[in-house]
Amino acid sequence: VSEAVAPNEYPAEAMAAFDPPAPDAALVAALRARGVEVDDSTAARARHARDWWPITIGEAARGRVPAWPTAVARPTSVDLVAAAVSVAHEVGVAVTAQGGRSGVEGGAAAPEGALALDLTGLDRVLEVDVISLQVRVQAGVRGPALETALRAHGLTAGHFPQSFELATVGGWLACRGAGQYSNRYGTAADLVRALTVVLADGAVVEVGSGAPRQAVGPDLVGLFVGSEGALGVIVEATIQVARRAPAERRGAYLFADFDRAMEACRDIVQRGARPAVLRLYDETESLRHFEVAGCALIVLDEGEAGLVDAQIAIVADACASARALDGDLVERWVEHRNDVSALAPLWERGICVDTLEVSGPWSALSSMREAALSALRALEGTLLASVHQSHAYPDGACLYFTFAGRPPGSERDYYRAAWAAATRAVLASGGSLSHHHGVGRNRARFVAEALGSGARVLETLKEALDPTGTLNPGVLGLGGPPW
Ligand SMILES: Cc1cc2nc3c(=O)[nH]c(=O)nc-3n(C[C@H](O)[C@H](O)[C@H](O)COP(=O)(O)OP(=O)(O)OC[C@H]3O[C@@H](n4cnc5c(N)ncnc54)[C@H](O)[C@@H]3O)c2cc1C
Repeated sequence: VSEAVAPNEYPAEAMAAFDPPAPDAALVAALRARGVEVDDSTAARARHARDWWPITIGEAARGRVPAWPTAVARPTSVDLVAAAVSVAHEVGVAVTAQGGRSGVEGGAAAPEGALALDLTGLDRVLEVDVISLQVRVQAGVRGPALETALRAHGLTAGHFPQSFELATVGGWLACRGAGQYSNRYGTAADLVRALTVVLADGAVVEVGSGAPRQAVGPDLVGLFVGSEGALGVIVEATIQVARRAPAERRGAYLFADFDRAMEACRDIVQRGARPAVLRLYDETESLRHFEVAGCALIVLDEGEAGLVDAQIAIVADACASARALDGDLVERWVEHRNDVSALAPLWERGICVDTLEVSGPWSALSSMREAALSALRALEGTLLASVHQSHAYPDGACLYFTFAGRPPGSERDYYRAAWAAATRAVLASGGSLSHHHGVGRNRARFVAEALGSGARVLETLKEALDPTGTLNPGVLGLGGPPW
C-alpha cells in the first residue's frame, strides 16, 4: 500500500542517474550471516531515504535523495529484528526503524550511512482476546489489516489517522499518534497496554502487561511511546480494542466566528460529551473544504444509540446560537478525509506547504491561534495560513495549522523560518511542540526549548538505553546532525 501511494516515486530516469556511495559490505555480510534479508539496491536505498516530511518530498520531486542509507534490512520476526540491531550495534552503524514511512517530520528518513530497518515484514495479528477486548499485534501491521482481523470478531481498534492506509501500529505508538476518532477511542498512547521492544544492543524486553493499569513504578510502556525509534524498536504491542459501534449520528453547524465556536466545543466536552469527531474549521478552511462562509463545525459520534443520542443532544444545545447545516458536510468530510494526494503536486510546483499540529489549554488557544497565524502571515512569501481545531479534551484541544508560501528566495530558508515563527509563537503562548505528528528531524531544534528543564530526563534516558547512539540519531534532538 505504502509504495502505491507514496509521494513522488522516483522516475526511472532519476533512478538510473543515481550514483550512491557503496553499501557497507561488512555490515551487509554480517546481517546476511545472521539470516536477515538485506536489500542494498539503489532503488531500495533511495525509497527508504524518504518519508512524508515535505523536505524529503521536495527533494524527491527534484529527483534527489536527501541522504543515502547504506542498506535496507527486512526482518520478518522479533529474533531477526534483534539480530539486525545487534549486528549494526557491533559494527557501529546507526539504525532507523521504519514502519509505513508516513511520518511527516522526517523521523523515518534514514540519515546518511544508516541501516534502514523496514518493519513492515512483521505483519501478523497474533491474538485477539474477545473477553478482555485486547489484541496482540506485530509492529508492522497497518490499519486496514488490523481492522479486518478485528472486524471478524465485531471489534475495532478505533485508531483512524488520516494516514490509515500507510501507517503501522509501531509507527502509531512511536509517534504518539492520534486517530480522527480519538475523542471516543483514545489516542495511541491511551490504547497501548504492553510492548515488546528491541533495545540498542539487540536485547529483547517486555514492558507492561495485560492489566488495564498497574502501580508498579513509573510507566515503562510510556517510555517507548513517542520515542520515535531513538530508545528502542517496538516489535509487538498489546492494544485495547472496542466493540464495533451499532449506531452513528452526524451534525454540522456554521458559526460566525472561530472564538465563539471554540467556546461551544469547550462547553460540549466540559459537559462530559466526547463525540468521536468534533472538528472546527476557520473561514479559509471552511471555504476550501465545504464552500461555506463562516466557521464550520462538523460532529460525528458512534456507539450505543442511547449514549450517542445523549451526546448529540448536548452538542445541539451548545451550538444553539449557530446555524445548523445539513449532514452533507460531514458526508463530504468522511469521503475525503483520507485523501492524501494534495501535498506532493504543490511541492512539485514550487509551493512550500506544510502543516503543524499543536495543543494547549482552552484558556490559551485563542491567543495562540492569533499569534501563530500572525507570525506565519508576517513572513515574506506566505500565500496562506489557516487553522482548524480537532481532538478536544476537557482541558484543551489540538490546533492544526496549514501554511503555504512561494518564497522570493530559498524554499528551505522560508520553510525553516515559517516553522520557527509558528513554533515560537505557540510555545510562548503556553502550547506544546506537537499534538500527534511527533518531533522527527524537523522539530528536533525546538525540543530543548519545548521541554525546558525536563529535557535532561530525556537525554539521560537516551544515554542509559543507547550509549553508543545506535538508534535513529537526530530525532527528538538526541544526537545526530541538527537539521
Ligand atoms: C497524509 C497524512 C496524514 C496523516 N494523518 C495523521 C493523523 O491523522 N494522525 C496521526 O497521528 N498521524 C498522522 N500522520 C502522521 C503519520 O502517519 C503518523 O505519525 C504515523 O503514526 C506514522 O506511522 P508509520 O508506520 O508510517 O511510521 P514511520 O513514518 O515509518 O516512522 C515514524 C517514526 O517512528 C519510528 N518508528 C516507526 N516504527 C517504529 C517501531 N516499530 N519502533 C520504533 N520506532 C518506530 C521511526 O523511526 C520514525 O521516527 C499523517 C501522515 C500523512 C502523510
